Amino acid sequence: MQTQGNNMDPWRGLYAARTAGLAASEVRALFAVASRPEVVSLAGGMPFVSALPKELLTAAVERTIHDRAAVALQYGSGQGMPKLREQILEVMALEGIHAGVDDLVVTTGSQHALELVAKLFLDPGDVVLAEGPSYVTAITVFKSFQAEVVHSPMDDQGLIPQGLRDTIARLRAEGRRMKFLYTIPSFQNPMGVTMPWERRMEILEIARQNEILVLEDNPYGLLYFDQAPPHAMRSVEEDGVIYLGTFSKTLAPGFRVGWAVAPHAIREKLILANEAAVLSPGTFAQTVVSEYLSTADWRGQIDTFRGVYRERRDALLGALAEQLPTLSWTVPNGGFYVWLTLPAHLDSKAMLPRAVKELVAYTPGTAFFADGTGRNAMRLSFCYPTPDFIREGVRRLATVINGELALLTEFAQTGPVSTLPSEPEGVLPPYAG
Ligand code: PMP
Repeated sequence: MQTQGNNMDPWRGLYAARTAGLAASEVRALFAVASRPEVVSLAGGMPFVSALPKELLTAAVERTIHDRAAVALQYGSGQGMPKLREQILEVMALEGIHAGVDDLVVTTGSQHALELVAKLFLDPGDVVLAEGPSYVTAITVFKSFQAEVVHSPMDDQGLIPQGLRDTIARLRAEGRRMKFLYTIPSFQNPMGVTMPWERRMEILEIARQNEILVLEDNPYGLLYFDQAPPHAMRSVEEDGVIYLGTFSKTLAPGFRVGWAVAPHAIREKLILANEAAVLSPGTFAQTVVSEYLSTADWRGQIDTFRGVYRERRDALLGALAEQLPTLSWTVPNGGFYVWLTLPAHLDSKAMLPRAVKELVAYTPGTAFFADGTGRNAMRLSFCYPTPDFIREGVRRLATVINGELALLTEFAQTGPVSTLPSEPEGVLPPYAG
């Protein structure tokens, strides 16, 4: 479908080389399917915004228009509104970060911060180091600046320090230029795992020794279930870390308000890049968020979210233990995601059409790797469906996976096994819309 569309595009010869990697991601293709009400979607990472206090948000919007229109409806600073930046300092203090109000730049969601950092640092052919697997749309951004994303291995405690040393040594030997390490240390997307403090320190030390910046992306750190994750890497390293935060998961993604904290010189460039891209991040959304933070019990609200997501995580883990006891999965202590590993011969992408027919959706593991690995894995998001839907979704998923496994057993003696009819590589399945 996509190929056909490109062939019919009369302008296809004019696009910049950097657009070559801009194909619809698997996550994006899935949204069309997942939005059908009969499908239990364990695919997208949509926060459960219905748990927000509507009256308080309505009041914040009203005050924004009645009392602060002159600012909220006007262009603003390319660095973001000073009052909101002060409030963000309070949010970050919860994760051990002590910064000044001038150290941070408000962005249009942390996604835009990723774009700006990539724009500042990446030339074609540069290498970005990332966890394997890593956040799909960060990979897309880095690729769009013609960088190569090279994954470094993980276990259930995040990045493995020795693995990172080995990856860096190999790339050095190949003469590659590494610009930064992109990492999500707490409740990682997509694995849900968290790096212990000692590992964070070791990773920072490796980055220092190799003169590589650390891009610490932390959308989920405050959404812990049992105990808080270790403090952010930025809490102990100011010069070598660019830290990204967002209100998307602790408040609502619709505001598109995120931020970056960066060492002085980088921050100055980030502001210029922000101005070049959007003049100023949306003042209306910044004012509403600021009003909300001033009047609502936002810490209490984060606690409410924790309760909601904890219950959903428990529902997912319980259902997996019941329905798919022979498989293995990560056990997140916060955030939105569980990473499920299938037997080696199963292909989660090839299996997806069958899953959708059974009315359940997930994100295939390959979406989270730049190098095509992850076929026998999938990300399950527990943030959006209710616990009952999650249990029903896992029942449906088990039907699909057990069906595939039965086929494998049936054909085990007849030679190499392929899974159910698979889509040709690179062509989006028809349900992608
Ligand atoms: N980083 C990670 C790891 C994410 O999971 C997301 C959203 N899924 C983002 C960044 C972007 O978030 P936003 O732009 O809404 O702040």
